[in-house]
Amino acid sequence: MNPLKTIAINILIPLFISAVFSLMIFYNEKIPKLIFTLVPYLFYAISILVLWVSWHFNRNRFIFIMLPLVFIHIGFEHFSAVNASNLFLYTSVLYPLHLIIFLALKERGLFSIWGIFKIAFFVAEVALVLYLVYFPSETIHSYLNIKMFAFSSYPLQDVAVAIGIFVFFVLTSLVLFNRYLIYNSTFLVIALTFYTGFYFLKLPHANELSLLAIGVIVFGLLIRESYRLAFYDELTALPGRRALVEDMAKLGMKYCLAMIDIDFFKKFNDTYGHDTGDEVLKMVASKLAQVSGGGKAYRYGGEEFVLLFPSKGIDDAYLHTDILRDTISKSPFSVRNKNSFKTIYINISAGVVQNTPKDKDPFAVMKRADNALYKAKEAGRNKVIKG
Ligand code: GH3
Ligand code: MG
Ligand code: MG
Repeated sequence: MNPLKTIAINILIPLFISAVFSLMIFYNEKIPKLIFTLVPYLFYAISILVLWVSWHFNRNRFIFIMLPLVFIHIGFEHFSAVNASNLFLYTSVLYPLHLIIFLALKERGLFSIWGIFKIAFFVAEVALVLYLVYFPSETIHSYLNIKMFAFSSYPLQDVAVAIGIFVFFVLTSLVLFNRYLIYNSTFLVIALTFYTGFYFLKLPHANELSLLAIGVIVFGLLIRESYRLAFYDELTALPGRRALVEDMAKLGMKYCLAMIDIDFFKKFNDTYGHDTGDEVLKMVASKLAQVSGGGKAYRYGGEEFVLLFPSKGIDDAYLHTDILRDTISKSPFSVRNKNSFKTIYINISAGVVQNTPKDKDPFAVMKRADNALYKAKEAGRNKVIKG
């Protein structure tokens, strides 16, 4: 299960945006009219921005999340009342399912086989909805209007509510257990916001505001995603060297730094293969990420890691680094060896130093930590040495 604190952080950001727009729906008479006349333009502006950024970042999932909303908005503005209510009925059932389908589909180039499949699927969805809007089918209507619950969620039909419950169940499970928290939590809030807009459709501007909220939420996600791409290491999910340099620039008068290196990793790669080596790196990184004593772990490069301990003295930093060395050395790692599995143990060595007035910058501190690490290797490895 994902840690509750991380879940909370990931969910609160989109939820806050959604809540602000929901408040605007409920307090609409207190808000100057001018703001509401801007909402449709803002929605189109943010949609174009999202489409453009998603295209550039090759995150085309969001193209398929935003485009249907743009079409829904256009439909509600330009269709006759009857057609618009048909559109409402079909999209209230289809869009939440569309959300989880496109969350599940892998991110590939738009013009790869996979991408073309997605485009074809989306075109088929749009064609189906348009066909049913203009040529409504009695049979489909009777299915979609089936009574399932004792309560009414008008204007949402019971089928839309049932699908909503299913979608919330799937997304909540993903938020709790799947590692792509940033996506799953955002999609959960998007579904919630979409239903809020549809349920309160009769309130002035409710639907427009909820669509705008979704646009802002997706844009926010793209910004966070670009931050993650720049500062986080893909393999281990630890912050990378760029994040380390940024954080070192923010350090106070007193801090400690540990340089860590996996022992005999070259031999490990040669024996078990590079892919298993990558798995070991992930395992070691996940242990280092749990560093206690206010420390923070970074992947410096290759099989080398750094721990930063802001405002900590050398004895504290040594203690918390040595706890990690000990934990890692006692963590069994299962590797495939020919046809059987074998349990092996990995060791790390570390050099820890505290900054002094003589160090002209954090890189000088790093150099000293590296020297201490070298001594730990010389002293037989699986050791932490104070520099
Ligand atoms: P020592 O105990 O002296 O540190 O021995 P070592 O073999 O670990 O020393 P060295 O630093 O020379 O070897 C590092 C090896 O780490 C070389 C490279 O094959 C491996 N390596 C670096 N980055 C990665 C990676 O991303 N994945 C995998 N699987 N291996 C990596
Ligand atoms: Mg090395
Ligand atoms: Mg090494």
